[in-house]
Amino acid sequence: MLEQLPSPSEKRLAIRVTPAAERAIRSGHPWLFEQAITKESANGRPGDIAIVFDRKKRFLAVGLYDPKGLIRVRVLEHGRPAIINQQWFHDKIAAAAKLRAPLLETKTNGYRLVHGENDGLPGLVIDRYDNSYVVKLYTTAWVPHLPVVIEALQAIADPYRVVLRLSRDAARQKSALFGLENGAILFGAPLDGPIRFQENGLYFEADVVRGQKTGFFLDQRENRARVEELAKDKSVLNVFAYTGGFSLYAARGGAKSVLSLDSSHPALNAAARNFELNPALSGVRHRLLKGDAFEKLSELQKSGNLYDMVIIDPPSFAKSQAEIDRALASYARLVRLGLNVLEEEGILVMASCSSRVEADEFFKLVYRTAREARRPLTEITRTAHALDHPIGFKEGAYLKCLFATG
Ligand code: SAH
Repeated sequence: MLEQLPSPSEKRLAIRVTPAAERAIRSGHPWLFEQAITKESANGRPGDIAIVFDRKKRFLAVGLYDPKGLIRVRVLEHGRPAIINQQWFHDKIAAAAKLRAPLLETKTNGYRLVHGENDGLPGLVIDRYDNSYVVKLYTTAWVPHLPVVIEALQAIADPYRVVLRLSRDAARQKSALFGLENGAILFGAPLDGPIRFQENGLYFEADVVRGQKTGFFLDQRENRARVEELAKDKSVLNVFAYTGGFSLYAARGGAKSVLSLDSSHPALNAAARNFELNPALSGVRHRLLKGDAFEKLSELQKSGNLYDMVIIDPPSFAKSQAEIDRALASYARLVRLGLNVLEEEGILVMASCSSRVEADEFFKLVYRTAREARRPLTEITRTAHALDHPIGFKEGAYLKCLFATG
């Protein structure tokens, strides 16, 4: 699979940028946008190494070039020259692995090993599921470097298999993929179904080819653990349940019933299977509800259903700047709908994964909406990122979650 890829070009592109981009790069930002480039020494190919200079031809950064991307260069090294070779990739991945070491003490073998920009490898994600690894590319600029990345991964993690996932944008750039497809096995044995892994001692399966992200929302692990701590004797409604992450933790925490609501049939099927993987949870009543969250929440309210804990973890509503207002309105609607089915003094768990909606704005919106609905909230805690999702730049801070009673 990897043999068919071209070697990375020996040629270095020289790039000059606008003063604004110069400042952004000096402050450590990893993205250089198309319109910030004032001069290019040649027409670059995906994955060429670009050297970025300021107006006075002073060195600024080394990056990966993507001729089709709005983000034209992703910075690999700021402020000092670097030779981007196997050793360089090895050092970056090894540093990322070291940061995650504490997770290995927690009966967890599903986590994010490399979190793109935030681990100094912009546009590259590597998730571990037991001894399989999923490499997800957000730009085809990584394609010529895949062989050295995989070699580095082999030296550090000894994977049994490595699976490729492509972002929608990357998957469209067929000519830069050299036959690679989403779901391709880059190394090791073919897949024979979802991959089973452990998170805090619970078993889950992830469909690493068709599942969202790389098959599981690894970023919510700590929030799931908090739900477990709060769930004893509670009836729990898990809205946007996906494959039941929060539901299983609630069940293990002693919930008296759990209802998983999602619009995706395959996701709910997987949630049911995940319960079956954990026989210790078989005593807990778990039900599935398929449908649109907004509609189903209204219906549940109309039929008089109330829950002691309502978890709302919607998909990212603001995929672009223009969608922010609509996203905020959707969050507000969900808070109102959630409070309508929350018992008095019940617990609301409200999450947002839109990086364009800032944490403060989100928390304020939740509180304001609750006040206006005459269900003022009292905070239990607010949370951000787990250690396998470090925050390396502004856009990296996307996840926020409020635990409150109301
Ligand atoms: N809480 C989950 C992750 C949620 S991801 C976890 O911890 O694993 C978002 C989920 O929302 C996806 O499963 C998707 O199928 C579902 N979804 C998206 N739009 C929806 C809608 N309008 N109604 C119900 N579910 C929806």
